[in-house]
Parts: sequence; C-alpha cells; structure tokens
Amino acid sequence: MHTKGTTSKFGVIEHYRKYLPVTESTPVVSLGEGTTPLISCPRLSKRVGRAVFVKNEGANPTGSFKDRGMTVAVSKAIERAAKVLICASTGNTSASAAAYAARAGISCAVILPAGKIATGKLLQAFAYEAKIVAIDGNFDDALRLVRELGQGGDFVIVNSINPDRIAGQKTAAFEIVDDLGDAPDFHLLPVGNAGNITAYWAGYREYHVFGNSTKLPAMIGFQAAGAAPIFYNRLIEKPETVASAIRIGNPASWKQALAAITESHGAIDVVSDEEILAAQTWLARHEGIFVEPASAASIAGLFKCCDSKEAAYSFRKIPEQSCIVCTVTGNGLKDPDVIVARVKELKSVPATVNEVRRVVGL
Ligand SMILES: *Cc1c(COP(=O)(O)O)cnc(C)c1O
Repeated sequence: MHTKGTTSKFGVIEHYRKYLPVTESTPVVSLGEGTTPLISCPRLSKRVGRAVFVKNEGANPTGSFKDRGMTVAVSKAIERAAKVLICASTGNTSASAAAYAARAGISCAVILPAGKIATGKLLQAFAYEAKIVAIDGNFDDALRLVRELGQGGDFVIVNSINPDRIAGQKTAAFEIVDDLGDAPDFHLLPVGNAGNITAYWAGYREYHVFGNSTKLPAMIGFQAAGAAPIFYNRLIEKPETVASAIRIGNPASWKQALAAITESHGAIDVVSDEEILAAQTWLARHEGIFVEPASAASIAGLFKCCDSKEAAYSFRKIPEQSCIVCTVTGNGLKDPDVIVARVKELKSVPATVNEVRRVVGL
C-alpha cells in the first residue's frame, strides 16, 4: 500500500516537517500519530459500485484524527513557553489535548458540555488527568468560554481555531496522496466544527502546488441532520444527534468549510441518525472497521451519494470510475453507548459443547 513517501519516522512532524510551521528549535511533542491505514474496501466498493478507500483515523494514539493537529499545536505551545493548555471539546479534542499535555509535562484544562461526552472520551480525559470542567451548556457555549479565557494570556487554546491544529491535520491528505500515488477524485468526511475539512483541502492544495499530485478531489462534507448549520445556512441553537463529535451548531471554521466546498466543486449534505448508525454497523460487519457514530457519517453519506434511489438532493452524482476516499475520524470504542445496550442482552449458557453449538447455530 505504501508506494512512496512513508518511512518509519516517528510522528507527523518528523514525516512532513517541511510542510509544517516548525523549525529545528521547535521541541517535538509526539506520540507517534499519523501513518494511519488507508484501507482498500472490497465489500464497500461493491456495495456502491465505485473504488472506495477508508482512511482509518481511529488508529491514532488517542483514537482520533485530533492527534495530528495536537502534536503541532502542543509543540508550538511549548516552543512559546506555554504553561497551561485549554480547549472546549465534544470529547476527542479533550482526550488528545490531555494526552499531549501529559507527554509535554504541562497541564491542560478541558471545558466540556455536562452529560454530553461519550463514555470512552471522558474516561480518557480522566486517565490523562486533565483539569476537567463540565459546564451547563453545549459545545458552542464551551468554545465561547475558551475564546474569552484565551485572551488573558494564561492559557493557550488548542481548539481548531488555533492554526497549528489545522496545519497538523493537513498531513492526513499528504498521506493519502503518498499512499495512492495521486489525490482521489472525491473525499468524503464528517463535518462538525469544520476544522478537518478545512485542513484536508489545504493539504490537498499544498501537495498539488508542490507537484506531488496531478489533481484535486471534490470535498464532500456530511453533517448530522439535527446539527447541520452549514447545510441549512443558519445557526442551530440546540444541535441534536447521536453523533456527539459533530453535535455543533455554530462551526468555528464555517467560512473556510464553504470555501473548501466551493473551490473543490464539492458539496455539503446531511445524513440522519438512523443512516449514521446503520452505516456504523455496516462498516463493522462487512469490512471489520469499527468507528464511532460521527465517523460513520462519511459512510452514510457515501451510501446516500452513490445510491441513486436514495439521493434526494441536487448535487451531481459520483461517476462510476471515481476513486473515493472516506475518512473515518475516530475509534468505535470511544462512543460505545449504543452498542452497550446490545451487549447487556448477552445471556450465559451451560459450559457444554452442545450448548455452544446450539447458540452458534451449527
Ligand atoms: C472532531 C471530530 C469530528 C469533527 O471534525 P471537525 O474538524 O470539528 O469538523 C468528527 N469526528 C470525530 C470522531 C471527531 O473527533
């Protein structure tokens, strides 16, 4: 799979140093993020009648793509002698910030919407011993607080409004081009605060300028139907979706996301919670890739785009000869609540061969 460009260098800063805002004197804070698998998916490709690769960002050190941006943001923060990091989070930013702060030996405050964080992600923030503040409010409220606190000079903000985060996250696009030997025709991904679609588009453009690819992909972003401010072109006061990582009503990188979509001749669309959960189950069952609900939005979107019967919206269909990459943004173990309900139905049986055969159905 790795045709060129990838080596055993540790972490995205060492891999892609010349494309990143670091110098020889930047202290590199890394947990070996990046170099995630770009998985060729035969059953998924057959299902949609097009060549599909899944970029599995759940394989990063804390289980989401946030680590790519965090290694750069925290390294730069240390270079600037930061003492305390701060972020608002739907879960994965706090997990990543807490881990990289621990790695760097500084402290990290995370502002979370109370009761809205997936179990695995909250557990990570506790495990890395971040200073955790749960607020009565949603993610958008938490980010507003963080912006205010960041002005005082005590805290360095490591949300994706920090440009070092976006710079680091570009490396996912670089890896895809390195692995495929060129850019794909279409790139599908979930959109929440819209930092990632911004970063991918910047990455594809930059790599193209450097002559590493011959084309640019159309960027197609998917929001959850109950949290789709960009799609509906208005603020969503109370965003609701099972996909907690994209439960955002006022995306920080709204304008940049629109630019990525327009410049790349892409689109923004919505998928329902039912479609998201069905896609999550499908990907685990048929390709062995277990992702969190927010991540499955790209797969749900793929099904919507490629299945003409279901494509109820007006952007051009994906031609059959296309090469498609879907980013799945985070590991399924982070957000297990939907599946835990199924686990609880498991009943024990007597320890006999006959009972095992009966339950297995053979
Ligand atoms: C952060 C996150 C997203 C949304 O990414 P944005 O850059 O905010 O658009 C999607 N999925 C997962 C798993 C995430 O952690």
